[in-house]
Amino acid sequence: MDVQAYKDALLRKKAEISGTGGIKPLQASMENNTRQGDMADQASGNNEVHIALKLKQTDAKILQAIEEALWRIDKGSYGVCRDCGEMIAEARLNAIPWTRVCIKCKEKQNS
Ligand SMILES: [Zn+2]
Repeated sequence: MDVQAYKDALLRKKAEISGTGGIKPLQASMENNTRQGDMADQASGNNEVHIALKLKQTDAKILQAIEEALWRIDKGSYGVCRDCGEMIAEARLNAIPWTRVCIKCKEKQNS
């Protein structure tokens, strides 16, 4: 696995989030786009400040996950699912380099 490529992607994302003050829904991961879409639908008719606040919280969570991922790269345990200990599929890491769990565990969380 080319860990350096993931590290670069994580550092870029981190700079993007912290450098712009956060709100960049178009460049968020597909996973987050879906969630933001859902929230926007649910919130339609509500005030937009509420949505902006939610996006901000999402960014803060991603930022924390990025820090954890960088830490795991240093420790040599990057790409291992936090819940089941299996390797996370590279396609998933390419889409969401800061993910903590594999797709199976993620689906379990959602169900
Ligand atoms: Zn797992």
